[in-house]
Amino acid sequence: MAVITETSLRAMHKSGIPNPFLLEKGDKLTPAAADFLKGRGIEVKSSEEHLQPAVQSQPERYIPVGVSNRHVHLSPEDVEALFGPGYQLTPLRELSQPGQFACQETVTIVGPKGSIHGVRILGPARGATQVEISRTDGFQLGVHAPVRMSGDIEGTPGLVLVTAKGSRILEKGVIVAKRHVHMSEAEAQEYQVQDGDTLILETTGERPIIYPDVVVRVNPRFALDFHVDLDEGNAANLKTGDRVKVIGKNGQLYTRQGR
Ligand SMILES: [Zn+2]
Repeated sequence: MAVITETSLRAMHKSGIPNPFLLEKGDKLTPAAADFLKGRGIEVKSSEEHLQPAVQSQPERYIPVGVSNRHVHLSPEDVEALFGPGYQLTPLRELSQPGQFACQETVTIVGPKGSIHGVRILGPARGATQVEISRTDGFQLGVHAPVRMSGDIEGTPGLVLVTAKGSRILEKGVIVAKRHVHMSEAEAQEYQVQDGDTLILETTGERPIIYPDVVVRVNPRFALDFHVDLDEGNAANLKTGDRVKVIGKNGQLYTRQGR
């Protein structure tokens, strides 16, 4: 609490007067001091008033969670190799991302140490075949896949896909999916991020975890969802439909109320 005079402002002028000039609670400006600031185009604000916009621009934001079990994406050629010429995959249920669906069809994946039956195929068929497993699955199969974003399969290990109708030896394409967030362009604006930014996300509950570097993927066809694999989901007691809190981006924690 203080009375701010023109003399005290002139003394401050040498080191620079902040704009806006913030008044603490109870501070008073003399009329001459107010004129001095006005004459220099310096805005006067109460510090409480000044804080408000910052808080409002960073409301608490949450992102729904999607836990992905192991699954396979097939190229159109591999659909035919495994199910016969001209075969079309049969949608079983829609996934959170528009146009994506789980198929009725499953495959057996076979590695040097073991195999896993009933691995779900996700449709529609797309460019290159990709098998997404957890690290735990990798131990069972004897296939140690790197953590990668979807589509980044150069230098990854392969395995064998088997159905009742055929089999396919993959030279590459097995990954452990890197955790990521999907967003539409409107959602990216709302969350103030761009494609390729990373978010810091925090879970709540019995085993809270902070994810420091979740890559954001922005596309008009995406819907808001935080994707983790089954190992990560289980480690944090997360299940599909839970929500995680956004607490920062690009390595910086947000400063905001409620934290
Ligand atoms: Zn995803």
